[in-house]
Amino acid sequence: MENILEVKNLRKEYNGFALKDISFTLEKGYIMGFIGPNGAGKTTVIKLIMNLVKRDGGEIKVFGLDNIKDEIAIKEKIGFVYDESYFYEELSIHEMKGIIAPFYRQWDDHAFNKYLRDFDLPPQKKIKDLSKGMKMKFALAVALSHHADLIIMDEPTSGLDPVFRNEVLDILRDLMQDESKGVLFSTHITTDLDKVADYITFINKGQLVLTGPKDDILDRYGIVKGGREVLDHATGQLLIGIRDTGFGFEALTGDAARARRLFGDSVIIERPSLEDIMVYTVREDRYAKPD
Ligand code: ATP
Repeated sequence: MENILEVKNLRKEYNGFALKDISFTLEKGYIMGFIGPNGAGKTTVIKLIMNLVKRDGGEIKVFGLDNIKDEIAIKEKIGFVYDESYFYEELSIHEMKGIIAPFYRQWDDHAFNKYLRDFDLPPQKKIKDLSKGMKMKFALAVALSHHADLIIMDEPTSGLDPVFRNEVLDILRDLMQDESKGVLFSTHITTDLDKVADYITFINKGQLVLTGPKDDILDRYGIVKGGREVLDHATGQLLIGIRDTGFGFEALTGDAARARRLFGDSVIIERPSLEDIMVYTVREDRYAKPD
């Protein structure tokens, strides 16, 4: 079994929002970045994987097991970091740990204490007195202290200073030395994913925009820059989120090779960043195709 997570045709409807047929897979040994603008449905997908909300359709398999039927076995092996605190505010770190640890057969006090030291977390401090970043560190220490094989994190680096953000990224990279593990990591900070993600899944308005190896995506897409005179109907169809720059236009293409053949030397085609891909795609969607 190579897939650590398989999401197939996942559907969920809320009043005014629908997650439509989301499918992606994460293989063992890799980090997947999960991106999309505010309200795209990232947290909803993560909650569905964790069976915190009920799905309306589709299938989710974790370690090859059904996420609902085998929920207890699966959760034992998932380290979960969520953007809302689910700890008891009145307890100290040490006390809270005492409540959480018995839920995990493989709880590792030694690892937990090491993370507390590394993260500068005082065990006697009450959860309510921790800063936002410290709460996130505590959640991360818990998630990493029971030998989980899948780490799922909903915006773990938001609200963290750049020094600690980079420490978190280093920890994830270290974790990947063990090829049986995987990480799913939602974030708005696409530069974090430039550094560590192997795979990217991008959703917008509840729909899948793309999923695949990050390097393939960055190779396939391109930023096209040129004079407006090269634009016609055919070329326009290749371009996403066309923007006037004063000198000409800039746009994203999902097929840089074809754009190169079509435009030849009349345009410049640059390698995009993940942020470019996200910004141009969402812009196209907002301005060119209103609901
Ligand atoms: P962000 O990046 O802002 O955290 P997100 O991509 O995680 O956004 P979600 O939190 O999944 O997005 O929300 C997607 C949509 O689902 C939003 O329109 C939200 O209002 C709606 N939604 C989420 N939970 C509920 C709920 N319990 N009841 C009704 N609507 C909901």
